[in-house]
Amino acid sequence: MICCINCFRDTEIRAAIEMVGRRGDCPICKKANTWIYDSQKDANRTDVEEMLNSILDIYVPESDLPITYPDEEKTYIEDRLLKDWNIFSGTTGEVKQLVSQIVDESLDLDTRIDKERVGIPQLFDEAYLRDHSIMGKYSWSVFKKYLRNENRFHSKYINLEMLESVLKRTEMIIPVGTNLYRARVSNKKGYTRKEMWAPPDDVASPGRANSKGQSCLYLCSNRKTTVKEIRAHAFDYVTIATFKLNRDIRILDLSSIVHSSPFYSGEDKVAYLVNESNLRQIQNDLAKPMSRLDSELDYLPTQYISDFAKFLGYDGVKYFSTFDKTSYNVALFDSSACNCTYHRNFLIGDLDYRLTAV
Ligand SMILES: [Zn+2]
Repeated sequence: MICCINCFRDTEIRAAIEMVGRRGDCPICKKANTWIYDSQKDANRTDVEEMLNSILDIYVPESDLPITYPDEEKTYIEDRLLKDWNIFSGTTGEVKQLVSQIVDESLDLDTRIDKERVGIPQLFDEAYLRDHSIMGKYSWSVFKKYLRNENRFHSKYINLEMLESVLKRTEMIIPVGTNLYRARVSNKKGYTRKEMWAPPDDVASPGRANSKGQSCLYLCSNRKTTVKEIRAHAFDYVTIATFKLNRDIRILDLSSIVHSSPFYSGEDKVAYLVNESNLRQIQNDLAKPMSRLDSELDYLPTQYISDFAKFLGYDGVKYFSTFDKTSYNVALFDSSACNCTYHRNFLIGDLDYRLTAV
């Protein structure tokens, strides 16, 4: 089999092919003079084939699927691969060609996956889902509805052990001495330094990462972004304060719970597939812009995740700013981890608010 770097979207596979260092023409996507992988010559120099085999290996041919497997979920492998993964960049025809050649050369893949329709039995196996999926047999959207309308504190819809292990992987340290910022819309006089801290418990209003009555200091890595975060208008006065960390803080980076590649860790590929779509929805909810008109209930799902981070002993959670992808926000549960070192009042001049038709 000969394929090339352009046949794939996945960063790990692309890197592995480039590392072989072979140039040539790709018979599959027809790209000329590019980084290619030739299984006859390069099999021992890279794990491209192991990676692809680990994905193909999870598919079971129709004749071996349990009788209860839903018929509408059985599809041909090339369609299934393109739907399930972000690994291949080619058309279904090109993926089919690749799969046929891999299956042909492989010693342990079932050759029927290339001919029959396929499925993944674990996706409909309740016992498997209970042990391997963070949402058990449910989905994030079902859980959100339950949280909102039925029971806020106790739920069978989430596997906390799994959630803990997934979130733990995003643990990071923000070092002592880092400056973070907070802005508040003020009057001409501005706020005192004391007033720039988070409101005390009991009077704290609910936010993305805290419930009503639980104090939380929302900080941002970029001074200017804080002004957008509080949705200040032109000619508003704002007070911006600088908070310097007085110790390292250990936080969960909720902006990176989705992985870029299934090959990044040695995780079971079916479990990866099951969890990835739920994680993507959680990450999207965390980054979703909130408007002043949103109900407090819209914060519940992200409050649930932040609350769990707090319960696990983390100092805070990090998530992307909705307004500026190069900035990040930190919701700090314990505000004694920083000192307010500077504050100043500003008048907002022009804001380049862009209008989007709705
Ligand atoms: Zn190619």
